[in-house]
Amino acid sequence: MPSNPVLVVHGGAWAIPDDMVEAHVNGVRQAAGVGWRVLERGGSALDAVEEAVVVMENDETFDAGRGSFLNREGKVQLDALIMEGLTLRAGGVGCVERIRNPIRAARKILSDSPHVYLVAEGAEQFAREHGLALCRNEDLIIPREIERLRNLQARLGLEPNLFVEKTSVDTVGAIALDRGGNLAAATSTGGTLNKAPGRLGDSSLIGCGCYADNESAAASTSGWGEPIMKLVLAKWSTDRVRSGSVPEWAAKEAISRLEERLQGHGGIILLDHEGRVGIAHNTPRMAWAVRQEAREEAGTEKNAM
Ligand code: ASP
Repeated sequence: MPSNPVLVVHGGAWAIPDDMVEAHVNGVRQAAGVGWRVLERGGSALDAVEEAVVVMENDETFDAGRGSFLNREGKVQLDALIMEGLTLRAGGVGCVERIRNPIRAARKILSDSPHVYLVAEGAEQFAREHGLALCRNEDLIIPREIERLRNLQARLGLEPNLFVEKTSVDTVGAIALDRGGNLAAATSTGGTLNKAPGRLGDSSLIGCGCYADNESAAASTSGWGEPIMKLVLAKWSTDRVRSGSVPEWAAKEAISRLEERLQGHGGIILLDHEGRVGIAHNTPRMAWAVRQEAREEAGTEKNAM
């Protein structure tokens, strides 16, 4: 069924400080512009979400690709997932340390692998065998993040509960509807600051940080990953749409559930096959942008609860 294309992106749900708002809004706007051009030319939702996420992985403002948070040992470990709503094909990578654009590796898994998910060295080997250049982990680390980790680790002894604070999380994600009526979703992250080596968050797990099904909706989430994963929140939200909720309402319901059931915090973007959009978060801010014919919007506050 022919549709009017829509592209929605987010750049993470957290307490974005005032002096970082502009960089976040510019970043999501740019990503939405790149994804939108794919859709405008008649390209697929899958290509559009991949290209939009690559822009944000390449932007050091965000917790994805170079510039991501460091784990407890001072390394970058990245997770990403991409999913196609028509076929439910999906590709995910977890704990990769030498891939600049994990979403490209995830896309290769979606298209060229009998598997859905590869982690660590196996994922890196697959990426290299499929034409992606590997980098050094050091190439993904920037001084801002070394400083951030040092400060946190220095404070940790004093504040053992720091992990549950609304600490910085700027995971990125994109969802799209193309002219052919197909939905797709993608999410990419460096995870949480000071995480244990090998920790996998919600972002790259199917149905948790990302989901797409033409029969319901496409979703990408951000926020404190452990509660989001326990609630399988992206799938939960698309199921609400399938049973009749409009995305705007389903997005709000998802964030209420996250807060009420597990005292979690985060945000979600949601899009159905009719092009209806839902954006919600219970963090002070979440960077987001929407593009469709005659509509270009971006901001850091929407439906805040
Ligand atoms: N959900 C991500 C994680 O827990 C973090 C984020 O959204 O920024 O890994």
